[in-house]
Amino acid sequence: MSEKWIDETLYDTWKQSFRVDKELARKKSEFQDIQIIENEFYGRVLLLDGATQITEKDEFVYQEMLAHVPLLTHGNAKNVLIIGAGDGGVLRRVLQHPEVEKATMVEIDGDVVALSKEFLPKISAGCWDNHRAEVIIGDGIQYVADAKDESFDVIIVDSTDPIGVGEVLFTDAFYRDCARILTPQGLIVNQCGVPFMQADELRETSLRRAQFFDYVSAYVVAVPTYIGGFMTLGIAGKGDNHTKQRVSVIEERAQKANILGHTRYWSPEVHTASFCLPPYIQEQLP
Ligand code: SAM
Repeated sequence: MSEKWIDETLYDTWKQSFRVDKELARKKSEFQDIQIIENEFYGRVLLLDGATQITEKDEFVYQEMLAHVPLLTHGNAKNVLIIGAGDGGVLRRVLQHPEVEKATMVEIDGDVVALSKEFLPKISAGCWDNHRAEVIIGDGIQYVADAKDESFDVIIVDSTDPIGVGEVLFTDAFYRDCARILTPQGLIVNQCGVPFMQADELRETSLRRAQFFDYVSAYVVAVPTYIGGFMTLGIAGKGDNHTKQRVSVIEERAQKANILGHTRYWSPEVHTASFCLPPYIQEQLP
């Protein structure tokens, strides 16, 4: 029997392929083409409009850095807003922090959540039923427009790239509202692509955010399936810039939160070092 492969055309001149050992689900939702396949090496893989979103094998890399870095940088986040992230992996990590009283997740596509619950239960690891979690199916830009001033300590945006349904999450209007609904020491994190290939994404997002936040920075994470070198996670906040903290401070907070020793990519040292940017990335920041 011939092998089936799926191509992800990331850039005009470069693509990656996964061998499809089994197609588990395929649905054209109201918003996107959702596919979940099985690959011998990566396990289950979620693709949206043909773009890899998450795999069982490397999800910990991205999700740990997207959740633990902002929460431990903040140090006392009680109300957390997650936008996108329909697979549940970020929600799961946010709920590991005992100081978080409520995690509100707003995902536009109910089909991503439903299919992730059914086919990617290892990624969310039962977080959906946690009494501190509220999952809302709706548009993130509308949610932040309607939210009360200073109602969240941390906002985590785990969106698709700035094309299609995720485009609104990279606009001035979105960032203006995010700044308004964050508490005075609040901060926001979002994925800013792979700067070796998409330098504009980090530069443009950072310039936009610089209009509404007191500081704008970024940190790096090497996600195997987001090819092209380091991916950047943009971070911006109100009040004092706490992004460059001593390892001992982060370690103490992680110990208190019982995160220490329970992660596979994040560590206090990796946390601190991830803010050291190679010059080709640093030069994209304002
Ligand atoms: N962590 C993976 C990554 O970055 O590739 C997965 C992210 S994926 C689960 C991103 C999610 O953002 C999708 O499920 C998509 O439906 C959702 N999304 C896109 N635009 C959105 C919007 N305007 N409001 C809320 N969620 C949105």
